[in-house]
Amino acid sequence: MTRRLEDLRNIGIVAHIDAGKTTVTERMLYYAGAIHKMGEVDSGTTTTDSDQEEQDRGITIYSACVTFPWRDQTINLIDTPGHVDFTAEVERSLRVLDGAVVVFSAREGVEAQSETVWRQADKYHIPRIAFINKMDREGANFFEVFGEIGTRLGGNPVAIQLPLGVGPPHHPDAFRGIVDLVEMKLRTFDEDSKGKVVETFDLPDEIKEQAEQWRRKMLDELFNYSDELAQLLLEESPVPADLIRKVIRQATLGYHITPVLCGSARDYKGVQLLLDAVTYYLPSPADVPPVQGKDPQNLEKKIPRKANADEPFCGLVFKVLVDEHSELYFVRVYSGVLKQQSRVYNPRIDKKENCTQLRHIQADRREPWPVETVEAGDIVGIIGLKHSVTGDTLCDPKEPVVLESITFPETVVSMAIEPDSTAERKKLADKLEMLKRQDPTFSAVTNEETGQTIISGMGELHLEIIKNRLLRDFKLKVKVHKPRVSYRESVGSTVEVTGERHRNVAGQQHMARVKVRIEPFNNKDKPIVAFNSLPATIPPVVAVAIIETLAEQTQGRAFPLLNAKITALDAETTDTEPDEITFRMAAADAFRQALEQSQAVLLEPIMDLEVNVPDDFVGEITGDLMQRRAQIRSTNMRGKNTVVSADVPLANMFGYSGAMRSLSQGRASCSMEPSTYAPAPPDIRAQFLGI
Ligand code: GDP
Ligand code: MG
Repeated sequence: MTRRLEDLRNIGIVAHIDAGKTTVTERMLYYAGAIHKMGEVDSGTTTTDSDQEEQDRGITIYSACVTFPWRDQTINLIDTPGHVDFTAEVERSLRVLDGAVVVFSAREGVEAQSETVWRQADKYHIPRIAFINKMDREGANFFEVFGEIGTRLGGNPVAIQLPLGVGPPHHPDAFRGIVDLVEMKLRTFDEDSKGKVVETFDLPDEIKEQAEQWRRKMLDELFNYSDELAQLLLEESPVPADLIRKVIRQATLGYHITPVLCGSARDYKGVQLLLDAVTYYLPSPADVPPVQGKDPQNLEKKIPRKANADEPFCGLVFKVLVDEHSELYFVRVYSGVLKQQSRVYNPRIDKKENCTQLRHIQADRREPWPVETVEAGDIVGIIGLKHSVTGDTLCDPKEPVVLESITFPETVVSMAIEPDSTAERKKLADKLEMLKRQDPTFSAVTNEETGQTIISGMGELHLEIIKNRLLRDFKLKVKVHKPRVSYRESVGSTVEVTGERHRNVAGQQHMARVKVRIEPFNNKDKPIVAFNSLPATIPPVVAVAIIETLAEQTQGRAFPLLNAKITALDAETTDTEPDEITFRMAAADAFRQALEQSQAVLLEPIMDLEVNVPDDFVGEITGDLMQRRAQIRSTNMRGKNTVVSADVPLANMFGYSGAMRSLSQGRASCSMEPSTYAPAPPDIRAQFLGI
């Protein structure tokens, strides 16, 4: 089955945890006819969330990207996880989707994580629409959240709907329906059909005036984006609904406005209108600019690829799902056509791979659905690849191109694990290898001397999940230590050092000297390793070996190096045939000495924390944060609550959510994400570096 580009939507739903993403998704799939029984988050029966026990293959796959029809269009819904430990997952999903629905809670409004995902969506130029959910809740306020989308997110919100009433069903002014400002009609949702039946009425008197006023606001904004519409407004002629929708679409695709909708997903109100809005206002793959690739042989040379079946094939691997039996690679196809039983080229590893089978993950089927071809713009699961990983480009072997890869942040939490026996060690290594392929934000390094393996990830929860998989799913016999912070090391001063090695191989004496400079360098993440031009007597292969060795050294340490620049300045030998291995050893020696002399700095991860707390408990919460070495950046009022924003060392934040709950009698909530690395205090430094 191929689909018309214009009728395709690749979208994601992003939200702060608990805003209602899962509930909205569940309702969408139900209305689309993809599932026949609607699950409820609160009874643990939704399709996308599932208990460990329920996590059979069908459901796991489902969480990557699910396809369903809506009216005459097809929607690919790409999952974006909600927990902060998985911001990298959100990032990689944003890379491959074309539009997003941002769900807000009408009570909590714009929360820390909504800001984070909003910024990420800005970075990837993702047009979005906002859905203000939970209009049925006590204290819900559409207009306040609407305002925050402008003030806190800079989203230029444009209301295209208004709520009729607000608050729970027993309330005299309960949330009862939605005013459609485009059509100027009231929509209500039949409870018996769980909102499947949407009824349309003329506007009741009670809301007419307010609706007129907000429609005027909407049109005044749209005035800026269409001469045709502006003309009609100036003439005071009626503006047809189709034209309004067309201009909303243009302005949304141009990142000028964010259309704002509302509803109550739990009470079956508004989700069908949201689906309509997805098809009306979010881009199809044909609306997004051509993807910019590069020639793998010459990275200076740009190769744009249009979302067009006539172009050569290229795509990006954005997720790999691995289990005991098979591997499924999720790929966004950017150009051309991909056929099953074909071969594709992966420029990173310079290898051809087999695309044996292609699959779509359809919401109404438990097993992935085989397809023969997929075209530009679509998303597909591939079976048959062996060596590719998340972030890799796949392309037509005859027309090689490399797309920008997906970058992932540094890990912040580590945990040591030790296998019980040698047999278990082998099994552990295999499983860790498999987990690493699935999850690029997870790393595992084994220390050959101690037999300990250090696994690292994005947070406590992240490692907890991995631990459960190792112990419970794979039934490995391993000892797991407590999680701790992943420290990093940097250099305090610039030094230049020469390393030297002599080596006797089969009676022949080799010698190598390598001079290295190491200096502090704020690159924000990884160290940079550079060449100076080395003497012509040093063959290029040896020169490359030196650089490789230096790069390996930066990672293969107890605390990987960060924020440093290392330059190979000079290399010398008295050998007639320079020996690569001797040079490698000399480079490693130079690196080790340089680091010793450069007054190493121990860096610890700092988290960006936001606590939302009722006023009565602000004192307790901030007092506790000070003891955790927090630097409080701001405290702002939000409704009846105070929002405390702070920078805190992660080392002091293990188990924080429990402490926060008991200090606030369960009424505070928080979110936290990695922000930067900063020098660790002297006691921690002494503990780890002994200086
Ligand atoms: P997620 O964390 O964003 O996926 O949010 P969930 O869909 O899991 O919802 C979090 C909680 O909010 C659950 O208890 C839901 O039942 C509840 N919830 C979701 N939508 C609504 C809504 O429209 N109204 C109310 N009152 N609660 C809702
Ligand atoms: Mg959820």
